[in-house]
Amino acid sequence: THFGFQTVAENDKRKKVAEVFSSVAGNYDIMNDLMSLGLHRLWKVFAIQISGVRAGDRVLDVAGGTADLSLAFAKRVGRQGQVWLTDINHAMLSRGRDRVLDNGFPLPVAQCDAEKLPFPDDHFDCVTVAFGLRNMTHKDVAIAEMRRVLKPGGRLLVLEFSRVWKPLEAAYDLYSFKLLPWLGQRVANDAESYRYLAESIRMHPGQEELKGMMEQAGLGRVDYFNLTAGVVALHRGYKL
Ligand code: SAM
Repeated sequence: THFGFQTVAENDKRKKVAEVFSSVAGNYDIMNDLMSLGLHRLWKVFAIQISGVRAGDRVLDVAGGTADLSLAFAKRVGRQGQVWLTDINHAMLSRGRDRVLDNGFPLPVAQCDAEKLPFPDDHFDCVTVAFGLRNMTHKDVAIAEMRRVLKPGGRLLVLEFSRVWKPLEAAYDLYSFKLLPWLGQRVANDAESYRYLAESIRMHPGQEELKGMMEQAGLGRVDYFNLTAGVVALHRGYKL
């Protein structure tokens, strides 16, 4: 990459992520409910609660997929505000766009890479990325981009799988590497994509490491909340 080339591993990852999300898009919402036993809804409610988003705010939902967060924020910001739904994957974004329209919220939608956001500096009050960061090739670049488009005082919220409380690790491993692909096979006829999801969760930085990455990208007052014994963490950082 120092010479401007993509390494084979980077290209492989991009290709894999594109394949996985094109493949899971149709069953994404039902699988999300099944795999998390509905908990992802609570994790998202928590993110929205502590987002501090108010009527009139501008919000960017990065890797927004089927638009769970975008829709909830659209209800909060009202007519004076704005919520952008964005994602790199066309299949996921089409589902999200249909969903926001079906719910009566014609939000602006953009297909874009989080590592190169098509928005001006200092623009948004809040940027969110839910279960998207771990799929990104250069997480540091994506975090810096998300910071760039925040207004001073604005905040970045990262909701992502994290390191589970140690005594639960063995059970969690069993769940992710055995039950998850099995469920993927039974429900979506696609064990492989769900195996990738489990692996990508294991590769993702833990709570403290992600906090450090956010600080490294120039975010301030970074903190995080462990949800469901650290299965998921919500990180928050401000552009100061
Ligand atoms: N945010 C939604 C949610 O919480 O339900 C969707 C999460 S889904 C697990 C991950 C999303 O990240 C996919 O829709 C995928 O296309 C998107 N994604 C992966 N890499 C991306 C990138 N570099 N830039 C933007 N989106 C990306």
